[in-house]
Amino acid sequence: MNRLCTQLSEIEPEYDIDSVFRKMSAHLPALAKRYYGVEEFVPVTPQIVEYYFEGYNELYRNADWFAFNVNEAESRELGVAVGTYFKRDQVSPGIPEFTVMHEANHAMQERAAVPAGVHHYVPWLDEGLADIFGRMMLFAATEDERLLRKVKTFRTEVEVTDPRKVTYHYGEETAALLLLRGRLPLVKALLKARQKDPYSVDWSALATGIKKGIDPHVAIVTSYSGTTKRDMFQKQLERDETNFRKEADLNQSDLRILSMFLATQRPAVIPAVEYRAALWFAEEAAKNPSPYSIDPMAVPEGFRPQITGWEAQTPIPVASLPETVTKKVSGLITKVLIPSASVPQDLKSGADALANSYFVIKRKMGETEYFEPYGGGLPYRLGSGELRCAW
Ligand SMILES: [Zn+2]
Repeated sequence: MNRLCTQLSEIEPEYDIDSVFRKMSAHLPALAKRYYGVEEFVPVTPQIVEYYFEGYNELYRNADWFAFNVNEAESRELGVAVGTYFKRDQVSPGIPEFTVMHEANHAMQERAAVPAGVHHYVPWLDEGLADIFGRMMLFAATEDERLLRKVKTFRTEVEVTDPRKVTYHYGEETAALLLLRGRLPLVKALLKARQKDPYSVDWSALATGIKKGIDPHVAIVTSYSGTTKRDMFQKQLERDETNFRKEADLNQSDLRILSMFLATQRPAVIPAVEYRAALWFAEEAAKNPSPYSIDPMAVPEGFRPQITGWEAQTPIPVASLPETVTKKVSGLITKVLIPSASVPQDLKSGADALANSYFVIKRKMGETEYFEPYGGGLPYRLGSGELRCAW
């Protein structure tokens, strides 16, 4: 948790949200043109509210979203002015920059992909593209690698633990596959077809087709459910795609950012009792000087004569290892053995469960039972963030 807090909280004391908004907004018109073909995009300055939708209605007073973009149709439906709203207690450092871009994407989608005044929402496509393009736009506007990494950390450490965010995570995967296989001209052509008639495509069938590995051109056409003839729809889509090819496609930087987030995996989630034991193992294994022993077999044969009384079945206390060995043989400490008897009573069941999942190895040497934390790679798994606590 400390690691995560440090990664997310590198905030400058003079962090000023309004100047962040201004800076991001300055780039949006050009980005709207580039990614959506939208001309003369007028960014709205986000408003900070204490709760949703303060001053308008109380329906969502308890909602804890970061931000919300109200488009024209929603403005009518919810009785809230068009705009982007940030909830003050959700504004955490580094995130507003990205969220401004994400929410602006929804405003661009409203211009490029939906008939005027119609509220049409395809979660996997809208949120997926808002995240994907949002990150590309974030980098285009800031060229800040650190910010990009922070967004990635947030995604892998926080968002994936929120079941409501599953659309963003797995929906994004589908949108990314569409974009990678079809590229920007096809996506623009699809959005144009949607604007003409949002109900002419079975969007769930399209997602399923893409996930199955079908070429998106084929998947779009087979998901067509409109009233005009299918081949007419297909021809129009092809014409639009050809036209959009005259505009910019994704560049190398875009593709890098896209793939950077595709490498994101949902972490393994383990029960709290196991997680506590895991943290204890990691701390004990990292102790320097170590109060524990190492596996004698970890010492390369040529160095064994330097160790008094070396024996295959007798763990060697780290404290007794000669410097001539530890200096030459790096990584010996990763074969550290922690006696079962040293595990605190309240962590014993967690430790056993970790061994049953092969996160640590439990073994016996002579009559003594040991845990070998690195045997199952536990400290590495904690360090890479692939193991997380279930709550
Ligand atoms: Zn969104």
